[in-house]
Order: sequence, then C-alpha cells, then structure tokens
Amino acid sequence: MLSERLFRIAIPGLCCLLILLFEVNTLYLGQAQFLLSQKLSFERAVISDVQHLDTGKLETRLVRYAANGGKKNEASVQRAYKAFLNAVATFRSSEAGNLALKTTATRNKLAKVLASVNELAAPVASLDTRTSASRALQVLEGISKSLEEIDTAVLKQASNQVKAAFNKLQQHQQYQTGLIFAVLASAISWVWSLHIRNDALNAEVRIHKQRAERFAIKLEHDSLTGLINRPVFIDRVGEALENLARGQTLSVLCVDLESSLPKSDKLDRSVEEAILTSTADILKHTIEPLTRQECVARSDGKNFLILSVSEDGMGLSSLEIANRIRDRFLRPVATAEGAYLITPAIGFADTRVPDHDPRDIVRNACLATAAAVIGERRDVVVFVPAMRHEIDRREVLEASFPRALETNEFLPHFQPQFDLKTGRVLGVEALARWYHAELGWISPSEFIPIAESNGDIVPLGWKILETACAEMRHLPSDLTLSINLSVAHIQSDDVVAMLDECLDRTGFPANRLKLEITETTLKSDLEKIGNTLEHIRALGIRLALDDFGAGYSSLSYLMDFPWDEIKIDRSLCARAVNDPKSRGVLGLILQMAGETGTNVLVEGIESVEQRDALVRLGCTSGQGYLFCGPMALDDIKTLFFPDRGQSGIA
Ligand code: C2E
Ligand code: CA
Ligand code: CA
Repeated sequence: MLSERLFRIAIPGLCCLLILLFEVNTLYLGQAQFLLSQKLSFERAVISDVQHLDTGKLETRLVRYAANGGKKNEASVQRAYKAFLNAVATFRSSEAGNLALKTTATRNKLAKVLASVNELAAPVASLDTRTSASRALQVLEGISKSLEEIDTAVLKQASNQVKAAFNKLQQHQQYQTGLIFAVLASAISWVWSLHIRNDALNAEVRIHKQRAERFAIKLEHDSLTGLINRPVFIDRVGEALENLARGQTLSVLCVDLESSLPKSDKLDRSVEEAILTSTADILKHTIEPLTRQECVARSDGKNFLILSVSEDGMGLSSLEIANRIRDRFLRPVATAEGAYLITPAIGFADTRVPDHDPRDIVRNACLATAAAVIGERRDVVVFVPAMRHEIDRREVLEASFPRALETNEFLPHFQPQFDLKTGRVLGVEALARWYHAELGWISPSEFIPIAESNGDIVPLGWKILETACAEMRHLPSDLTLSINLSVAHIQSDDVVAMLDECLDRTGFPANRLKLEITETTLKSDLEKIGNTLEHIRALGIRLALDDFGAGYSSLSYLMDFPWDEIKIDRSLCARAVNDPKSRGVLGLILQMAGETGTNVLVEGIESVEQRDALVRLGCTSGQGYLFCGPMALDDIKTLFFPDRGQSGIA
C-alpha cells in the first residue's frame, strides 16, 4: 500500500517539484550570467576611464619646459593642460567617476583633485621656467597621488561588484548541479520503481492468464474425468462435420451408465466417482489411437459421448467401436474403490442418416442409447429415424395444446367407484381425455406430463373440473365426483376462489366433490399447501390422498392432514394378494384410517382375487378394470343408470 502510494504520488511529485526548481534556477542562472557579463564590461569601462585620466603627459611637458623653456614647450604644456582638463571633466561623468562619487573618501579626494586641477590653471597660464613650472609640477604630483588613490578605490569597487556577480553565478551553478543530481536520482528511483512494479504487474498478468486458462479448461472440461464436456463435444462434432471428406462416416456414440448403476443415494458417492473416472479411461483406451477429430466427452450425469470418423474399408467402423466397448464391459471395471461389473447401454448415430446438425446427431445417439436402456441392454442400438418420432410427437402435442383447449378437444371420462360389498356405484373419478383432431386419442400418461411441464395443466384442470361438475347433473344426485388436482393448481393463489366460482357456476354441491392430491404434491411446500387445503376443506369439499403406497410413501402424510379418503395405489393393491408384508401394510393403513374415520378406496382392482383379498382385509370401496375402466358419460349412464336410478354391478 505504502509502496503503491510512493509509486503513484510521492516519486512523480518529487520529480515534478525538482524539475520545477531546476527550471526556476535555470532562469536565475541566466540572470546571474547576464549580470556577470554586465559587471565585467563595467569593470573594463572603469579601467579604461582610469587609464584615460593620466597626469603623465602633462608632467612630461612640464618637466621638458622647466629644463628647456621656449615658446614651443610652453604651448605644448598648455595643450597638455587643456587635454588633462577635458579628461578630468570626462572622468567625472564616466563609470569610474560615478563610482568615485559613491563613497565619501573618494568623493572628497575627487573634490581635492578638482581643486588642485583648478589650482594648476594659474601657473600653467603664466609659465616661467623656475617658479611656475616647478609649482605646477608640485601640484600635479599631489593630483597624481590622489588620482592613484581614487583609481585604486574605484577599481577595487568594480572588481568587488564583478566578484559578487561571479559568486552569484557560481552559487546558481552549484544549485543547478545539485538539482540535476536530485532530478536524476529521483527519475532513476521512479524508473526503478516502475520497473519493479512492471515486474509485479507481469507476474499478476501471468497469474490471471493462468487463472483464465484454468477457468477456460474448467468451462470446457468435466472436472472429475478431465474429459471435454457436452457443449465442447457438440462444437467438435460441428467442426468434424464441416471437414468430413467423401467416403468418411462420422459417428457419435453415447454410452450410458446412469441406468446400469444403482440410484445415487444408494451408491457411495466416492464409488460412483471412481466408476466414472475408470469408465472415462476405459473409453479413451478402447478407441485409441484417436485421430485429430476423434474425442471422448462426459455428457451430463453418467453419460459419455464418443466422436469417431471412419473411412470406407479402413480402420474401425462405429459399430466395431461400440462392440469393442460393450465387450470390454463384460469384464469388471477396476476402480480405486474395488471392481464393479457394469453393463452400460450403448447407442450411436452416424452420418449415414442424413442429419447434418451436430446437436441432432448427438441427440440421435442419445435416443439410440435410450432405446438400448429399454431393450436388451447388451445390444448396441443404432439410431433409426423412427426413434425421433416420439420426440417429434411430443413437440406436435405441445404445439397443439392451446388450440385443443380452445376447441374443447379435452373432455372428462369417468371411472366409477364401487362399494366392494354391495357393488353399488358410490361415485366417479373424472379422468382427462384428449381426442386430437389429427392424432386421435392421446393417453393422459402422455399429455399430462407435457401439460405439467409447460404450465397448461392449470387451464386443462379447470376445464375438466368445470365440464365434469356440469355433466354430473346427468347422473344420480348421490354420486360423488373425484377430480385430480395437480401441484400447479394447489400452488396457484386463486385456487380456492376458482373452486368456489366453479361450484357456483355449475351448481354442483361442494360436499359431493372430492379433490385427489398425490403425495408428491405435498413434498413441495407442505406449510403453504396445508393452508390451502384447509381453505378448500372449509368450502365443504372433500380431500383424498391419491396414489398412496406407490414408491416410497410416508405414513406421516396420513397423519399430517385430516384426509377424507386415502386412495391405495394399484401397485400396493396388486401386491396385497400374494405378499403378506404388503397385506400387513394395508391392514395397518386400514386400521389407522378406521381410527380417524377416513375412507380407504383401493384403485386398480383388476381381478376377483384382488377384490376378495381386499374385502377380507376390510376394504370397503374400490375402482378398477375388474369393474369398469374410465368411459364417456353416456356409456356410464347406459351401463349403470339406464333409468337414471341408482344402480350397481351385476
Ligand atoms: P390416477 O389419478 O392415479 O388415475 C388412475 C389411473 O389408473 C387412470 O389412468 C385410470 O385409467 C387407470 N386405471 C383405472 N383402473 C385401472 C386398473 O384396474 N388397472 C390399471 N392398470 N389402470 C387402471 P389414466 O386415465 O391414464 O390417468 C393417468 C394419470 O393421469 C392419473 O392417474 C392422473 O394422475 C393423471 N390425470 C388424469 N386426468 C387428470 C386430470 O384431469 N388432472 C390431473 N391433474 N391429472 C390427471
Ligand atoms: Ca386419481
Ligand atoms: Ca391414483
């Protein structure tokens, strides 16, 4: 964190500050340089001024005159005096003169020089060799001495100014050097920290890249077996299809373990994983050597997919590969958890069936395997287009639902329920039937699961309820009507209101209506559903627990809710004849129901033995093919109530 701040703020900030200082100093350095050059030329001017004010020439002329006299020498002295006078005047306004005026000592000396120069005027004007010339030389000597002192002082001052300017320049040069080092040092440290950071970033990028690669592998591969997954497999099939040459056949094999393994909750998870891992190895080795296009994938759950490309007359055909796999599984599969004998279902589809969509080929292979599961497992099944029929049919049925609901293709058939002792018809169960305009009669075992998965079960259920309630007016008024209620119905918020409205509209009495609910319904949200059932019951409608004893029934469902009726599933009914345990269970249910005043109705009674056994156990009511299957209302009327009176079975 600290190093990050140093890197981001401190070092670049310091660099900027140092560069700014450097720039400012460069400015001052330039000024100092300029000042020094000014001072130097000033000094030169001062020296030149000082040199100009020279008493030597006048002194030489005076000495010559004093020695020789003569008019010529006199005139020469007077010219030299004039020139000296001019030089003194010029000196006063020169740089050196100005400097001399600045300090009191030199100012006084200059004043003295000026006075002495004026003093010279008289002797020079009236020269004679003895007195005035020597007097003039005496005064000139004084002037010369004073001028020397002034010159020395002035030159010293000029030289001091030059020295000060030079010092300033030197000082700025030192600053500049220091700053250059500081800027260089901080720039180097910044570059260094950049380098370090760059290294860290590179390492981070490497880690992220590795992570991304691992993630991509995870996305494309099954984590348990390391094989590619289904979406990647489908892509590979697509690529292989595009590159398929003449004379080559592409096949997709589907190997299903799901149906050959015990259900997951019974099989230890580690054993299951060990079997899947070993199977993946077996499949890879069985089809080795793999060509560039061939691959093995783990599809969802316990399914494996194999892509193979065979050439006419060369290598292994898909059937040969499938048979090899099948034969390999004749031996137990060795796993880390022990050896297991597994018989996978194997099916395949190939491009001899002209289907060139990769998804369809994979789907076809799985359909062939599904057929292998149903059939003789040891046979490898090859996909044939007829297998698609079932799926296509489901799609057709799904698409026809809305129209069928509108055009009343759905109608209830009724299966009578009897008093097993007297044979009297106690009531009827309404069971939905669908007469499809093109496909004819469709079984509920086919359309109910479709309706449940696409949500159409709710409108369908209301239609059957409404029609059945309305049609009941053609049957004796003491008969009950049982209606199947799906999970979706019970979970819908308006179920109670809808039931109430339906009874209102059709005028069917609530106490003659029985709603059948299966155990599986209760598994979804027991509290909410229990609440809804209370409200339904409050309307006066009776409730029946349907399919009891099918699969793993729980006795707790019997206790959790005060059912009006328990419908014993036909599987338990069938077992009750020969299996003493099932009889025991049935006896227990009858006893519990007897204690709570709940009616027990057995469904699926198909034989006289079954009926007699049930009667002996104390069952009083039932329904089943022994008496009558579900049929249209008119047939019920004709068969059981020809004169619309109460009737029973002969
Ligand atoms: P379920 O409610 O258990 O209905 C009893 C099923 O057993 C009916 O099948 C009936 O025809 C059949 N059956 C009756 N007696 C015998 C017999 O002696 N032996 C055999 N083997 N079967 C017998 P169906 O009509 O095919 O209905 C199947 C299932 O579809 C029903 O089972 C019910 O769960 C569902 N279903 C039917 N109509 C409706 C409906 O309107 N709404 C809802 N939600 N489900 C319905
Ligand atoms: Ca039922
Ligand atoms: Ca049932």
